[in-house]
Amino acid sequence: MPRPILATIHTQAFRSNLERLRQAAPDARVWAVVKANAYGHGIERAFEGLRGADGFALLDFNEAQRVRDLGWRGPILLLEGAFELRDLELCSRLDLWHTVHSEAQIDMLAAHKTNVPQRVFLKMNSGMNRLGFTPERYRSAWARLNALPQVDEISLMTHFSDADGPTGVAEQMALFARTTRDLPGERSLSNSAATLRHTVDPALAEAQPEQWVPSDWVRPGIAMYGSAPDFPEHTAAHWGLQPTMTLAAKIIATQSIFARASVGYGSSYVAPEAMRIGVVACGYADGYPRICPTGTPVLVDGVRTRTVGRVSMDMITVDLTPVPKADTGSVVTLWGTAANGAVLPIDEVAACAQTVGYELMCGLAQRVPVEVTA
Ligand SMILES: *Cc1c(COP(=O)(O)O)cnc(C)c1O
Repeated sequence: MPRPILATIHTQAFRSNLERLRQAAPDARVWAVVKANAYGHGIERAFEGLRGADGFALLDFNEAQRVRDLGWRGPILLLEGAFELRDLELCSRLDLWHTVHSEAQIDMLAAHKTNVPQRVFLKMNSGMNRLGFTPERYRSAWARLNALPQVDEISLMTHFSDADGPTGVAEQMALFARTTRDLPGERSLSNSAATLRHTVDPALAEAQPEQWVPSDWVRPGIAMYGSAPDFPEHTAAHWGLQPTMTLAAKIIATQSIFARASVGYGSSYVAPEAMRIGVVACGYADGYPRICPTGTPVLVDGVRTRTVGRVSMDMITVDLTPVPKADTGSVVTLWGTAANGAVLPIDEVAACAQTVGYELMCGLAQRVPVEVTA
């Protein structure tokens, strides 16, 4: 028998989350952001649930190839664009749209031999200070691109640094609006947090074009995977999002321990009184963060309880006090949805690990078998 641990990808949850994002941005087309192997879900496994999107955005060429291999003929956008000249041949061959964020990439385009002009997304650095042209250089970059026979349509994009927090997007949005005001082309601004938290009232946008730029294309990632971009201020349930990944494992042994007995490496947990412990077939080598302290929530047979003691490579130990009927073979949900419908948000586990849902999804280990359900 294989080791009793399983990740499940929920196709219907993808559809539901996508629908939810469309409600938040009814006038926009949706890039399903599937970089990092669809946030750890597996591009091939997520595809069925996401094929209702208008396009796929990612940054590895091999991932773009995989999306084409799945039969997708629609738009694909490379979020970091070309890394070297050869990449532009791949863009031509696979019909990829690509981001242009640097002069070096414009040089590559100018040197690219093709009869089929390419569609590009010109990126503005509106304050994140990672990729893109500063507002001062943006318009000259646009003019340079516009003069190239290798370039077909130019779309305009930026990425917000604080869409998930109190700072918000207003300042970056206004800077983008001012800089791009009279430039033609479609606009793409919003990630998950901006799409959910900073929905643009089209009437207001029209009244104040200096301040609001509606996205023609939104670029949600994390919300599509059922995690809240702004946890703990809001939960995924608040946003109407469902987990697309469940990680579950079984109890492989139980221990009845006396008061003052300790559990696991370093004896970090000492039982205050007699209790029953379940040993679960999941550890940090499966992608469960080692840093999760005693008290990290888990569901045992769909009932909420907690970890006790240190996470080890292949096992964690959980408190069975709230679930006296649990035994070897009981299913433990580490994050996601249990058989009884109870949900343990990945964001809660991530918070215990001092990180975000993104990192847990992306960190699901190779050795964990994965199943896709309807
Ligand atoms: C990853 C990424 C997104 C998606 O961000 P989420 O926070 O997951 O919604 C959008 N745009 C760009 C440029 C990205 O790199």
